Amino acid sequence: MKHAFIGIGSNLDSPITQVRGAIEDIKSHNKIKLLKSSSLYKSKPVGPQDQDDFINAVVKIATTLSPLQLLGELQKIEYLHHRKRLKKWGPRSLDLDILMFENTVMRTKKLTLPHPEISRRDFVIVPLLEITHKNLVITKNKKLRDYL
Ligand code: AMP
Repeated sequence: MKHAFIGIGSNLDSPITQVRGAIEDIKSHNKIKLLKSSSLYKSKPVGPQDQDDFINAVVKIATTLSPLQLLGELQKIEYLHHRKRLKKWGPRSLDLDILMFENTVMRTKKLTLPHPEISRRDFVIVPLLEITHKNLVITKNKKLRDYL
């Protein structure tokens, strides 16, 4: 089993229900084991401000899936939540990102690991800190505390 962290965000169609529902979907997936989940956090949207605040959370999982298979399963969950992707940085009913997958480093069209948002966004760093610790290794020479 490999460990991974997943970032969850929503600002459309009852965001708290969307995020809780996504955590339940992850928990009930037969190839994903939910190990930890953070509290729910409210954050201001990135980009256009004429949209509602986001609700965010981070979960730690164990899985037998590969990173790309995991991405595919998360996209199915997004689809089930009737994700509407109207515009980049725009409102969304559910956004699931793989933040880290073991110590995998990759940069392809489909998948970038670790997710670049880890270094930039409080709504990722704060929930990650809640369920991990400052010494979490993000890349070979960066720890979570370097982004605080
Ligand atoms: P977004 O609109 O931010 O949800 O971007 C979705 C696209 O980002 C997907 O089609 C993925 O192929 C791509 N992507 C690249 N890296 C990641 C990652 N670490 N987690 C999730 N999606 C990713």
